[in-house]
Amino acid sequence: VRVAARAYLPDLLCAGDAVNAGDALVVDGGVVVAAGAPPAGVERVRLAGAAVVPALASAHGHAFQRAIRGRTEWRAAGRSTFWTWREAMYAAAARLGPEDLGAIARMAFHELARAGVAAVGEFHYLHRDPAGRPYGDPDELAARVVGAAREVGLRIALLRVSYARGGAGEPLAPAQRRFAEDDPGDAVAALERLAGRFAADPLVSFGLAPHSVRACPAGWIRDLAAEARRRRLPLHLHVSEQPRDVEACLAEHGAPPVLLLERLGALGPGTTAVHAIHVGAGEIAALGRAGAGVCACPTTERSLGDGIVPADRLLAAGVPLSLGADSLVQVDLLEDARALELHLRLARLERAVLDPGGGEDALGRRLLAIACRGGRAALGLPGGALAPGEPADFAVLDLDDPGLAGATASDLVSTLVFGGSRAAIRDLYVAGEPVVLDRRAAPGRAPDERIRADFRAAMARLRA
Ligand SMILES: [Zn+2]
Repeated sequence: VRVAARAYLPDLLCAGDAVNAGDALVVDGGVVVAAGAPPAGVERVRLAGAAVVPALASAHGHAFQRAIRGRTEWRAAGRSTFWTWREAMYAAAARLGPEDLGAIARMAFHELARAGVAAVGEFHYLHRDPAGRPYGDPDELAARVVGAAREVGLRIALLRVSYARGGAGEPLAPAQRRFAEDDPGDAVAALERLAGRFAADPLVSFGLAPHSVRACPAGWIRDLAAEARRRRLPLHLHVSEQPRDVEACLAEHGAPPVLLLERLGALGPGTTAVHAIHVGAGEIAALGRAGAGVCACPTTERSLGDGIVPADRLLAAGVPLSLGADSLVQVDLLEDARALELHLRLARLERAVLDPGGGEDALGRRLLAIACRGGRAALGLPGGALAPGEPADFAVLDLDDPGLAGATASDLVSTLVFGGSRAAIRDLYVAGEPVVLDRRAAPGRAPDERIRADFRAAMARLRA
């Protein structure tokens, strides 16, 4: 069914790198066809008191981790660290059934949609049942997660994770047996089955994801990288999130993680290194040479005590950046966008560290582009600027929201990125179709009440 062309007329339109008052966004068949004066003979939709901006993209996340929000914010005996948090996360992961996972993922994706996110990269490593046996349908859990995103209305790139071991020379711990696979070919076979299963849905795509240099031996990373390149799929890995990741890689391979990836042929324009916090100058140069990207997840990284992504040095080396809501401790990608800059201000005792120059809105635009276009590029998806020919994935902002009140064309983006929040996001459109309208699920999508009830029931089961 072809939807008729429509012209959306907000007070302010942010499209193709410009913000203009009085411009229309013209959408036809799920694609932006023009931004400017509305053509004659097209249905007009006036969005009074609103601004339209490109929808956000979260390039890295784990939907099931929504289940532990608010449940790990205390000091364990001794010291609370990333590693003690991981124990709590594993304990939750160990108990989830397929229905629980579906309910938790729907809540996670619903919250992302409400926060203006149109596209998610799901770094999916829950494959087996709690005893470590494959399900009768080996793709049971992956299909639940993809299904949850589609019921909510989001685009999803399922980054199918391979997980082989607990660390160098260590078998999987019992808490990791649900992630287990016997061979890198298992992920490729799963990918082919899933691609067939969702072939009719253009909003579902895939990528390969050797979990990390800790969880995959070198041979697996080499094979999976070659497969991703051959199939033109994104390749995502967790890289240097904690100093211990770097120390273990140096001890096993005699090189830090990024240089190991380069040696394995795993650094290229399709590669996204997630986190890349503890990286040296040689590694940053290698990322830049290869055209590989980095996905920063600042709200999670500060929650876990990981450190600060050196976004200034990465951007200076030409490394494309993206953002991820990752652990979902907070779901507000605008907060991740500003944290990318604000964490550096605290560390460097300076302001506007990432400002490329070019006017009062230039830094805000750079951060918004990372949150929109950057995330989509990391997932192999076009768009993110609402330029003609791009997918019509856009968010409608309420200009009466106290966080945005008074914004004009010249400062809308900076106001949104530095002082706005997801509370200002009123509607979300994906491929030209409404997903959120007036801060509620649009008709035809999984309804708010059912998402909440199913989520509460799943959480009650997990806590029992
Ligand atoms: Zn992660």
